[in-house]
Amino acid sequence: MKRVAALVIICIFLLSSCKPASGEAVHSSEFFAMDTVMTLKAHGENAKAAISEAERAIYRLESLLSTELEDSDIRKINTDGSALVNAEVLQLVETALKISEDTDYAFDPTIYPLMCLWGFRTKEYRVPDDEEISVLLGLVGAEKINISDETVSLAADGMGLDLGGLAKGYASDAVAELLREYGVESAIISLGGNVYAVGSRPDGEKWRVVIQDPFDSGGTVGTILLEDEAAVTSGAYQRYFEQDGEIYHHIIDPQTGRPCDISLASVTVISDSGTLSDGLSTALFVMGKDKAIEYWREHGGVFDFVFVTADGEILVSAGIADEYIGDSYTVIE
Ligand code: AMP
Ligand code: MG
Repeated sequence: MKRVAALVIICIFLLSSCKPASGEAVHSSEFFAMDTVMTLKAHGENAKAAISEAERAIYRLESLLSTELEDSDIRKINTDGSALVNAEVLQLVETALKISEDTDYAFDPTIYPLMCLWGFRTKEYRVPDDEEISVLLGLVGAEKINISDETVSLAADGMGLDLGGLAKGYASDAVAELLREYGVESAIISLGGNVYAVGSRPDGEKWRVVIQDPFDSGGTVGTILLEDEAAVTSGAYQRYFEQDGEIYHHIIDPQTGRPCDISLASVTVISDSGTLSDGLSTALFVMGKDKAIEYWREHGGVFDFVFVTADGEILVSAGIADEYIGDSYTVIE
């Protein structure tokens, strides 16, 4: 099963087929932040100023949320065991804990010690033994985070927070809000596998976002039409290493302390919140196909999905079926 991941290159990329009406300002920018390539494209007279400000906002969020940057709030919590944090960080930690609880801890922001153990922090990858994994599993558990006033504390030495499972989605929400404040009514934000469509295209049509075929990096499985919505994809391809013919990817099952099984080759979650879509894309990837479908049925109306299963099947939830264009897919009711 894990070999599948070697072939998997899943990403959402943008169909930039829209032509701005003549004379209309359009501005775009591509840069590297939060360990990924980011692309912002906005239409309207304030587009240029809005995008410059959005870039600054992303770097600012990175400096608060990174597990690696020296002075980040998250780094302080992980180093000192507790820290007084910025109000925005506090709110995001609370959101992460809520998603964790709601997903029965498939999403767990306290996964950090295991990310380190497997080498995903330093990129010095290694396969740990069972004993090491079981010791660190004792340090994982969102319920071990305490929040009091504006202080976030970890219950035990060696614990750590990692908001990497939803930080980019949160950044996309922040950018969307900022662009709207600048009067931008049409923009597409792409932060790695996290896309947020502000309004519609300048020609009035919805934004078109394609989902790449996980088994064929040159192909696509379909297109989703978006308007004021986020679509976020998770998959094993984003970070992994190979040892003795096995693929070890970066999404860890908090139950086992190991890269989760891959019954889904890619998970795309669509909702009106980038943060929620990002958190859920990670959680549903961990849950696997059957549990993820069940979870969607229990949370109907809040989000929709496009799954590509390990067998190459494409499953589209009923709520997004009218906004999905593609060949041979099954609608999940
Ligand atoms: P994503 O690409 O959004 O699916 O997030 C993957 C990132 O989330 C990893 O690189 C880790 O930083 C973090 N992560 C890994 N496993 C989990 C998990 N089970 N719950 C929450 N975050 C996780
Ligand atoms: Mg995620």
